[in-house]
Amino acid sequence: MNGFQENLKDAGIKLTPQRLEIFREVAQSGEHPDAETVYNGVRKRLPTVSLDTVYRTLWLLLDLGLITTIGPPRERARFDSNLKPHHHFVCSKCGKTADFYSDELDRLDIPDSVKELGIVEKTHVEIRGICSECAKKKK
Ligand SMILES: [Zn+2]
Ligand SMILES: [Zn+2]
Repeated sequence: MNGFQENLKDAGIKLTPQRLEIFREVAQSGEHPDAETVYNGVRKRLPTVSLDTVYRTLWLLLDLGLITTIGPPRERARFDSNLKPHHHFVCSKCGKTADFYSDELDRLDIPDSVKELGIVEKTHVEIRGICSECAKKKK
C-alpha cells in the first residue's frame, strides 16, 4: 500500500480515498475482478462512488502501470494488481482466476512460429479447469 501511494505521488496524482479504495479492492480481491465487481465492493465502504469513477480510476491505474488487465482490454476486462510474473488458473464454471508461480513456465521456450507472429513481451500461461470450490459443489 505504501508503494502505491508513492507511485501516485511520483506520477503527480492526488491520492483520494476513492482511488485508494479502488486499488485496495483489486489488490485484496485475489479474484481478478472486473470493473463492476470492483464497484460493488468499493460501494460497501464508499456509498457515494459511481461506476464511472471506478472505470476512470481503473484505467488511470492501468496507464500508470499499477495494475494490469487479463486478456484484451475490453469492457469486461478483469484487473490484476499482481505485477510479478505469474500465471493463471481459470475456473471455467465460476470464472475465478487464481495466480500461481512457476519458474519453469517463466522460462518457457517460445516456438519460432510465435516469433514470426510478432515480438514477445511476456509469457503468461492460462490453465483452465474446474476450481476446487466448484468441484465440491458438483458432488
Ligand atoms: Zn469455480
Ligand atoms: Zn494474476
